[in-house]
Amino acid sequence: MPENAIIAPGEVWLVGAGPGDPDLLTRKAEKLIRAASVIFHDALVGPDILDLAPADARLVHVGKRSGRHSKDQATIDRLIVEAALQGERVVRLKGGDPAIFGRATEELEACRKANVPVRICPGVTAASAAAAAIGTSLTLRGLARRLTFVTAHARAGEELELDWDKLADPQATLAIYMGKAAAQRVASQLMTAGLPGDTPVAMIENASLPDEAVMLTRLDLLSLAAKAALGSGPALILIGDAVSSHQVRTSRIPAKAGTSGACTAPL
Ligand code: SAH
Repeated sequence: MPENAIIAPGEVWLVGAGPGDPDLLTRKAEKLIRAASVIFHDALVGPDILDLAPADARLVHVGKRSGRHSKDQATIDRLIVEAALQGERVVRLKGGDPAIFGRATEELEACRKANVPVRICPGVTAASAAAAAIGTSLTLRGLARRLTFVTAHARAGEELELDWDKLADPQATLAIYMGKAAAQRVASQLMTAGLPGDTPVAMIENASLPDEAVMLTRLDLLSLAAKAALGSGPALILIGDAVSSHQVRTSRIPAKAGTSGACTAPL
């Protein structure tokens, strides 16, 4: 079977590129990238992964980073559909898993409306890479029975509209995507809704990449810590008792330790 037979001409695949480390690509994602004639990729997909594309494949950057939207979603939808209708083998390469905060629905619908066959190749999501970075589990028997993926990204000028009472659940782990700018608001709203100030928090920047940075803190120190310790890379915030489960199971992080800033050593 020729390598590019995995994608038929005129077909679109939404492919998860994982959190950054090329070794965290699935084998299928790699095959699809190698078979593509055009790849529309996000800003978070790094050069090592794009290097897997055939030399004659067209690479189109359609990335969106907070505040810097290079192409709006409708344009991306249109480009993908047009490429497929021209008989290209289309890969839409997205950071992490395409079905998690990846605007997959718009692209799936655009393809289906145009009768373009479209499929999804899942990827390792940032929350999984973040948990791996701190050597912990996202769930914890008896203590964190629920795992909530939430985005703290609000449109410019709009308030974050989240159900804080539901989110402030001591039996859950919160994995907050796009939460860097809103860290202060997230912390104060969760505490107002009843989550204790000493709830363990980890912020993981550039999870799985060589410049990965980890910061352990507590909810009442989160906004301070976020300002002090984070760079410009993508960061995931994990909140809940499972975050410290690699330490003493039920213990909380004392306020003093929480101020210690960035920690990149294995924990
Ligand atoms: N579909 C992606 C999420 C896209 S939203 C996924 O499944 O992972 C983009 C957000 O994901 C970033 O703002 C950040 O919160 C998180 N993120 C993506 N890659 C990351 C990484 N390597 N390290 C930490 N957070 C990351």
